[in-house]
Formats: sequence, C-alpha cells, structure tokens
Amino acid sequence: MTAADSRSLKTDQDQDETTLAAEPAAVSEREARQTAEAAREAEWRKPSFGKQLFLGRLRLDLIDPWPTPSAEIVAEAERFVARVAEYAEAHIDNAQIERDASIPDDVLRGLADLGAFGMKIDKKYGGLGLSTHGYCQALTMLASANSSVSALLSAHQSIGVPQPLKLFGTEEQKSRFLPRLAAGEISAFLLTEPDVGSDPARLATTAEPVDGGYRLNGLKLWATNGTVADLLVVMAQVPRSEGHRGGITAFVVEADSSGITVERRNAFLGLRGLENSLTRFHDVFVPAENVIGREGQGLKIALTTLNTGRLSLPAVCVAAGKYCLRVAREWSGARVQWGRPVGQHEAIATKIAFIAATTYGLEAMLTLSCLLADDESNDIRIEAALVKLYASEMAWRMADETLQIRGGRGYETAESLAARGERATPVEQVLRDLRINRVFEGSTEIMHLFVAREAVDAHLAVAGDIIDPDATVGRKARAGVKAGGFYARWLPALAVGKGQLPRGYAEFGRLATHLRYVERASRRLARDTFYGMARWQGRMERKQAFLGRVVDIGAELFAMSAACTRARAEGTAEGWELADLFCHQARVRVDALFTALWDNSDARDAAAARKVLDGRYASLEAGILAHDDDRPWVAPWSTGPSEATDVRRRLRR
Ligand SMILES: Cc1cc2nc3c(=O)[nH]c(=O)nc-3n(C[C@H](O)[C@H](O)[C@H](O)COP(=O)(O)OP(=O)(O)OC[C@H]3O[C@@H](n4cnc5c(N)ncnc54)[C@H](O)[C@@H]3O)c2cc1C
Repeated sequence: MTAADSRSLKTDQDQDETTLAAEPAAVSEREARQTAEAAREAEWRKPSFGKQLFLGRLRLDLIDPWPTPSAEIVAEAERFVARVAEYAEAHIDNAQIERDASIPDDVLRGLADLGAFGMKIDKKYGGLGLSTHGYCQALTMLASANSSVSALLSAHQSIGVPQPLKLFGTEEQKSRFLPRLAAGEISAFLLTEPDVGSDPARLATTAEPVDGGYRLNGLKLWATNGTVADLLVVMAQVPRSEGHRGGITAFVVEADSSGITVERRNAFLGLRGLENSLTRFHDVFVPAENVIGREGQGLKIALTTLNTGRLSLPAVCVAAGKYCLRVAREWSGARVQWGRPVGQHEAIATKIAFIAATTYGLEAMLTLSCLLADDESNDIRIEAALVKLYASEMAWRMADETLQIRGGRGYETAESLAARGERATPVEQVLRDLRINRVFEGSTEIMHLFVAREAVDAHLAVAGDIIDPDATVGRKARAGVKAGGFYARWLPALAVGKGQLPRGYAEFGRLATHLRYVERASRRLARDTFYGMARWQGRMERKQAFLGRVVDIGAELFAMSAACTRARAEGTAEGWELADLFCHQARVRVDALFTALWDNSDARDAAAARKVLDGRYASLEAGILAHDDDRPWVAPWSTGPSEATDVRRRLRR
C-alpha cells in the first residue's frame, strides 16, 4: 500500500466536523523549486570567498590575514569555555544520560545558571553576548561532555527563537522573549511535518487570520526540544486573503498555549537524551504581534537564520574529531598485535593520519567561518553551508575509522566495556550520535543543491533566460548577447593565474605549493562547471551527481585554504605539518573528484535506479525476512483536537 492509498483510506473513515484530513499539498517539482528559489537570498552585499572560489578566483585576501578578534572578546570566550568545562566535568554524566535517555533537570538548571541558554543573546537582554566563535567553542566543549546537551543548546539558540528574533524581531519582541530565553526557558524550531522534510512547499500547517492574530492548525514532526520547550518558532501557511499577502510565515508561539499537545517523544539511533517531539496544534491562537518579520517571509527567515546557525553543527563535529584523535592515539599505541602496536601497521597508520589531518582542517574551516561571521566583512552563507556539509561527512568518516581502529571494542558499548573492567570509551555512541548531522539542518543532498545553486548563479544571471523553457524568443536573444559579453571576459581569465607562477604564494613557505594547487583547481572547477552548463543547459539542475562533486571540490578547496591560512597565522611547527598533511590528503580527494566529474557511471546509475523503482530487480530481494508491516510509509494525519496524552516534560526550575 502506498502512502497515498493509506491517506485515502483514512479520509474514508468517519471524522467529526472539527477534524479535517490533511491531504498533502499536490506540489509539483516546479513549484517546489520556485518556493526554494523565492526563499533564497538573491543579493550579495558583501564579498564571499566561497562564491569567488566557484567562479575560479582564489580571493585569499578575503581570508588572509586570519581575522583576529579583540583580546577582550577572546578572553571573554575563554573564561566562559573554562567555566563550562568545569561544570560539565563535575555535573554532566554521559553514561547516565545515555542510560536514562534523558538530561536531568538539575543539569539544565545548572547550565542556565552558567548562562549557557543565552550564549548568543545580547547582554542587553540578559544574555552573554558571546561571539559566534566563542559560542562554537563552548558547543565543542559541551558536545565532548554529551552530544544531546550540545544538540539541545544548539537547537535552542541556532534555530530556536533567539536567532530569528535577533535578525528579524522587533524591539518589543526582543525585550519580551529574549530575557526569558537567556534565563533558561527553552526554545524549539518547528518546520518539519510528516509530509514536509526537504520540501517546505508542501507545508500543511495553517495559520488562519482571526481577530487580533492567527489560528494555528497542524502537526509538526521531529522538533528538537519540542517536549521541553517553553517557546516555539512555528512555520505555518497563511492563506492569501484581503489584507493578507499570505505564504509561509514564522510565529513565536507559547508552548503553554491552549490547543498544543506534545503527542510523542521520538527515539532515535543516537542522541538518546534528545527531547524531540511530535506536536499537534489545534485552533491555537497566536497574537499578531508574534509574527516574526512579515507574512510570507518564513522560509527566508529560516534560511537566513541558518546562515550562521549552521555553524553550530560543525562545532559538534570538531569535538568528535578531537575525541577520535585522542582515542586513536592512546589505543593504537597501547594495543599490540602481530608484534607491534596496531598504530604501527600501515593500514591503521593511514587512518590515524586521516583523523589528525581532518580534525585540523575541519577546525580551521570552522574557526575561520566563525571569525568571518563575527567581523561581518564577508557574506559567509556559502562557507557556512560548506562547513556544515564537509564537517558532517568527515566527522562520520573519522568516527567510522576510529571504530575500525578499536576493532571489536569499537563496536562494544561503554557500559559493557566498563563491566568487563576496561576503559569505558563510547566510540559506538560517537558514531550513532554523529549520524544525524548528515540529515538535519539541510541533508547532504540538499546542501549540495543549495551550494550548487550559488556556484552556478553567475551563469544563471547572464544566461538563465537562454535555458529557461518559459522565456520568449526575444528574452533568449537578449540573454545570448549578455552571456556572450560575460563569457568573452570571464573565460580567458580562467586560463592563467597565480597558481602557475613558481613563486606564487611564497609567503606561505612549504604550503605555497598547496595554495597554487587551490588556485589552479578553482579555475578548473569554474571551467568544468561552465562546460557542464554548456553541455546540459536546462537539464543541469538534474545532474545532481555532477553538481555534488563540484560542491565537494569547492569544500575541499575551502578547507585547504583555511588550513594554510590558519597554519601561517599560528606559526607553529605542528600547524605547518598538519596543514601540509591535510592538503596532501585533500588533493588526492580533489583529483579523484575531478576525474569522476566526467568519468563516472551516473547516467547508467540513474537508469538502473529507475528499473529498481519499477521493480525489475525485485527477485533479488528474495530469501530474506523483510520485517515489514502494512502500515504506510508516512502516517496519515488529520487536523483536529488531539486524542493523545500530552507528554510534555515540565522541568523543575
Ligand atoms: C533527530 C532529528 C532532529 C530533528 N530536529 C528538527 C527540528 O528541530 N526542527 C525541524 O523542523 N525538523 C527537525 N528534524 C527534521 C529534519 O530536518 C529532516 O529530517 C530533514 O530535513 C530531512 O527531511 P526528511 O527526513 O523528511 O527527508 P526527505 O525530505 O523525505 O528526504 C529523504 C531523502 O531524499 C533526499 N532528498 C530529498 N529531496 C531531494 C532532492 N530534491 N534532491 C536530492 N535528494 C533529495 C534527502 O536528502 C534524504 O536523503 C529533525 C530530524 C531528526 C531525525
């Protein structure tokens, strides 16, 4: 039975008048794209290192010298991180949270007393007003104590109420809500629905204008902090009507409002302490003054919020890298097999080197992006997206390699290890906790599309009408002239560059060779993107494997640039070595990606996938038990009053 079948079954059932089956919106691929496009920030008011990189220009001047915050800002962050470390060491018991699948109330209270719920909130509203860099350093520290704790604080501050209010809130909203949040009330961000994951155009939660405000109806899935939150950011569709431009709109909603039911707390592969909800809204009144920004601006607000909000997740990944490195070092030196410590066998040695180099590169990328966000001279939306994408993928690989290095013990739980008298090293937990990073706050596939859209933006700006099937002949002709002029100037500029000069980037000493490589690779990337555009034209947007590789190359080049500038700024021998190692490894990956751009099985794979979906190879699935039931893939739901018991957890404060 398909999801659609199951929905019609459900609608056939009798329902009282207050209940309305939520038919998923029939949204075409084109409409989905248009919604995403409308939410996109089209303007670039500040320079962007990432954007230039995809255009074939290595604008090292935008990131070198390494941005340096004031001594006061650095000291403030250091003091706070030290307090967090001390608190976490004494009070956050990872094993207990893992066992009980819950963060104790007193830990949340203690963190609130430290100011951890207001790290990003301005001092004027009772917060700590930390820099983005200081905030991420604190998250890295907290993630090393327990990932569910950092996930809670990050969802609260990076996507919850504080960040959208900071960017789009009125003064009245800020003074009403921010002091409460800085003091320890918890917030959550509710966009996802059973039928809305990567595609917000299908959003079914409605906000109907009523006297003095709006009435919300709908069901929100997987809201991190949803079971414990006091204040929610809710995305809902306002129908267009007289005086209402309508569209997806962001609201601040009191979690105590009448009509809200937390129907379930969801459980996952990892992040066992996560307080994640299924939340129903039934005729929930929200006053008009709680709209963030304007009607119809919801998705733009969500995307802009994520521009810097996305940096918190890589902060968690950096913590994982550092932990993996420590485990790999200590264990591989101590464990002897076949007459040597396992770290001296080459197969394990390469993994250790990968973890060390990647942790360095990742931290460089994150720190640089944070510092650029703080000094506000650059637009970092591409960099933040690249770090999110790269960090979530690389941290997963590092954790996987660490598990391999640990052998059977990597697969054993910390509790079981301890029960046998061995060190309680929770590598399997690290792996489980990290996995979701490749899915939420923009899955890897969606991040590829997001960055690729920016990478080809210059081409679309000049040649978009040529490939737009809806463009008139006149528009196409005008675009042809415009594109001719642009490419006549741009393409020759990609033929030569500083990367070909033997003394190019000499100020980087032994790392100069890598920056020359980055410069050459950036031009090659732009040329290849152009060839792709010329070859596939309007079909380019469907070449997701090609675009994914383009973006992955860009991420590696950004990481290499960050590693080199970090090493130069730090000036330590270890830094030079690690940056050099990281660049050598990254170049191997980049070369492979360039080869795969044109030499791959993409077309064959796409055809094969269609056959798989058509059931052609279903016989291959024979011979196993499928563990299936006949429930639908996506549960049908209806608007109306909740029939579930409210499972909201009210914290003792
Ligand atoms: C633990 C956890 C916490 C979460 N916290 C929150 C939260 O606080 N607030 C909130 O609103 N949501 C939250 N989410 C939801 C999360 O953001 C979504 O899971 C995510 O957006 C992906 O949506 P989906 O799971 O419905 O996948 P789908 O959109 O169904 O996608 C399925 C697969 O297809 C891929 N895909 C989808 N569209 C495309 C496309 N156009 N091109 C290529 N590939 C595509 C996806 O990448 C994915 O691999 C959370 C989820 C989890 C599991």
